[in-house]
Amino acid sequence: MGETMKAAFSKIFGRKEYSVPEDDMDISSPTVVTHNVHVTYNAHTQSFEGIPDAWKNFIENAISKAEMERNPEAAIAAAKFWKYSIRRKETDVKFIPTPQAIQEESEAIEHVFESGKDSCEIIDPAPLTGESVPHQGSTADVRLPDVTPSVIPKAVDQVDKAEVKVTQSPVQVRRKQGLKMSDDEIMEKFRQLCSPKNPESVYERDKELGAGASGTVFIAQDKITNCKVAVKDIDLDKQPKKELILTEIKVMKEIKHENLVNFLDVFLLNNHLWVVMELLDGGPLTDVVTETVMKESQIAAVCHHTLQGINYLHENGVIHRDIKSDNILLGKDGSVKVTDFGFCANITGDEKRMTMVGTPYWMAPEVVNRKHYGKKIDIWSLGIMAIEMIEGEPPYLKETPLRALYLIAANGKPDVPSWKKLTPEFQDFLNCCLEVDVERRASAKELLAHRFLTKAVSTTTLKPLIEAAQKILDKRISNVS
Ligand code: ATP
Ligand code: MG
Repeated sequence: MGETMKAAFSKIFGRKEYSVPEDDMDISSPTVVTHNVHVTYNAHTQSFEGIPDAWKNFIENAISKAEMERNPEAAIAAAKFWKYSIRRKETDVKFIPTPQAIQEESEAIEHVFESGKDSCEIIDPAPLTGESVPHQGSTADVRLPDVTPSVIPKAVDQVDKAEVKVTQSPVQVRRKQGLKMSDDEIMEKFRQLCSPKNPESVYERDKELGAGASGTVFIAQDKITNCKVAVKDIDLDKQPKKELILTEIKVMKEIKHENLVNFLDVFLLNNHLWVVMELLDGGPLTDVVTETVMKESQIAAVCHHTLQGINYLHENGVIHRDIKSDNILLGKDGSVKVTDFGFCANITGDEKRMTMVGTPYWMAPEVVNRKHYGKKIDIWSLGIMAIEMIEGEPPYLKETPLRALYLIAANGKPDVPSWKKLTPEFQDFLNCCLEVDVERRASAKELLAHRFLTKAVSTTTLKPLIEAAQKILDKRISNVS
């Protein structure tokens, strides 16, 4: 596809999250609801048993009979994951995971079809034909299951397999304490944590950069140093779980690395939190991958810097869980930094609309299949992000989210259309990231020593790509008046 065409497509079919009115896709509850069911696939009738008819039809419309036949476990896993993801929209807060939380959510997903009450609510941004609908947003987002907050766990290895079964974690203790706190006590804690100054006396508010599930982000300029920063404005009145945000801010204050979008300060202003971060004025990597063609040496550079950020997070007990080009921010100088590793709280508060956060396309198979998972999910996502840098988009982007989940669970390592054009080093790097067997998948540390990264050029070579992408998308932050 030509560059102009690509740009036009990306404008029309933008990659941002979107909301869908629930009313559009609701299927009314069935008269008979089966409780305590066990979902199975009956090869004879070529149909699922143990799930409500409405869901059965929905799944069978998205995934063909031949595909279900080929891998019924993947179809069931995808359906359970999808249902769990959309039913939890009311607790739309995503936090740094702990082993305990991962175990809990895995169990909740397992039993997702067993609660009679809402078991037939189906909301899908895609039509029930299961066909691709890029104009509705081919990047349909699925919410990742929520996780509870944590101080930085001692080692992320805890999260992997054996240690997932820990019964008492520091999280539980803090959670109880958190729940005991009254709103007044929580606000008092915020006041203690936040800088005592009025942020409006420190910063001049500037152009808005956008709004996500977590709040509005705007540029601000330090009145004394003239330095520009990015500020995320979070309306605390709209947060159902303020105590979790409190904990996360404490965690974010501890995390500092040159390949992370660092947290600088936090203020409280009229019940709004101003979370001050470094400003990355080159836009997200998504703009570069969708609008320009990257050389392998540049891809190696981005992978190298991203891996350094991921490795630091992993060493400090944090799993990112949402590595994708949208969460890699670039500086105009070419600097590469990982963002959105901390809290992410819903501010939409619009009951009528379903805003989903997190995307299925970058998800590791073990997440969809709900095998015990840990830090290696970030490595899989990095592999998918490398595919974005090659192809301009992740695999299955044109598929509906449910179908994409099935394909991830069923296919394992996705096909890369340009595979034969890649050097052996890059092919091997991708194989190391996109290894389905978690044990055999490389760790961040191992990948940092991979020979593909020796091809990396300076990130300053990204500058022309960033400028070209910004020109096409007309997003020049530096032109803010
Ligand atoms: P999500 O809620 O899933 O994170 P999002 O990334 O679109 O969605 P925000 O993180 O709130 O939402 O960011 C809103 C916009 O501001 C995005 O376009 C993002 O790229 C931009 N942005 C966020 N942080 C920074 C930053 N530190 N520097 C420059 N731009 C930023
Ligand atoms: Mg974000």
